[in-house]
Amino acid sequence: MRARKKKELPAYIRERISLDEMLASRRVLQLVHEKGPITQGEASEALGLSQGACNLHFQRLEYEGLLRALRIEPEGRGPGRPSNHWEVAREQNATLGLVFDPPHVHVQLEDFTGTILFTQGASLRACRRSEKIGEKVCTLVARAMEEVKARRLLLRNAFAALPGVLDSSTGAVRRAVNFPALEGLDVSELMQRTFKLPTLANSLGAAYYYGEVASIPANNTALVMYWDLGLGFAFGRNRQLLTVHGGEDGGRMISELGHISIDAQGPRCHCGEKGCIEAYAGGWVLLQKFADQKVSTLEDLVALAQSGHPEFLKTLREISRLLGHHLAGAIQMLGVSEVRITGALAPLFQFGRIEFFEGLSEVIGIHRSAGIQVQVTEDPKASLLAGATRAARRAYLYPDEFNRLSRLSITLQGQRMAEKL
Ligand SMILES: [Zn+2]
Repeated sequence: MRARKKKELPAYIRERISLDEMLASRRVLQLVHEKGPITQGEASEALGLSQGACNLHFQRLEYEGLLRALRIEPEGRGPGRPSNHWEVAREQNATLGLVFDPPHVHVQLEDFTGTILFTQGASLRACRRSEKIGEKVCTLVARAMEEVKARRLLLRNAFAALPGVLDSSTGAVRRAVNFPALEGLDVSELMQRTFKLPTLANSLGAAYYYGEVASIPANNTALVMYWDLGLGFAFGRNRQLLTVHGGEDGGRMISELGHISIDAQGPRCHCGEKGCIEAYAGGWVLLQKFADQKVSTLEDLVALAQSGHPEFLKTLREISRLLGHHLAGAIQMLGVSEVRITGALAPLFQFGRIEFFEGLSEVIGIHRSAGIQVQVTEDPKASLLAGATRAARRAYLYPDEFNRLSRLSITLQGQRMAEKL
């Protein structure tokens, strides 16, 4: 997406760097993103490139609107010439986050500083088919595009966060038990066709994870549990999402921990199995179970707990113990030290915090469980939207990480898991 017509890139750069191949220049972009502002000399040394080659990449990235030079005057009155220090042009580059959080959809535009420039949502309650959902989303995106145009931004890409089981190659929704109208929705295709906007469709868990990363210490493996109508999980380390799966196709992914059966005789789940943890703790179960308390939204459930309803609080304590018990294995296996609870039902966690740790220590012992930090996200919706745009920025700057994600190459049984962790 270009905000304005540009003059052509000088032939001597065009002939020496393939414009289709962002690959070589991307290393330079990543370095400036991580270490900037830096000089070209510092970059050529860090990357082992000749000054001449480095200069071409800088010119090309400047031409693309990604980098800009700051002229820094030497200090004092002594000799020395002013030098150019380069940084990412954060204010003129932007990404879009599309969040499908049933029954709502949200679109948020942020520049590369993380400043929110546009945010709007719509209800999908009346939508019975994925086409209708597509129309609603396009209306919101079209409004965001007007903002892009008015501010003369360079919109780089979008990240669409979706619930349910996604097609691993396209990101289209294959199965969404808690909101079936989403099934068949291929957001990447829709955004490409309607707006020519490159869009990576991935799980809601990825957006929840990226919503938390800023506050997770380096080298800590984190488990993000998002608790809303369903129950989902994401794992990550050092701003990189870990995806683990158990088979070529249809194998249970670790993000689907909510649908691993803990009791073959347990209650029936939306997914068809019996005894999934979601069938005890998912928001849809709680809404059914306490229907006589006139709860119809997730917010009503939070209010019911806050009112001190004895039976609901008892249920929450039972669920929390079960959750702790159920998650202990994954926490132990992946070396998790930070747990984040987010999603619309996150405020319910405080009512069973003690029981969660009891359940955890039943499996991994008191000593190990005491070393685990559990934090409840204060504003889950804001974190989720910021997470989606942050994931888009990450996907633009570090596309390799996401290639790995969608190929889902790390198997639960495989040797490679230990290396990756
Ligand atoms: Zn299930």
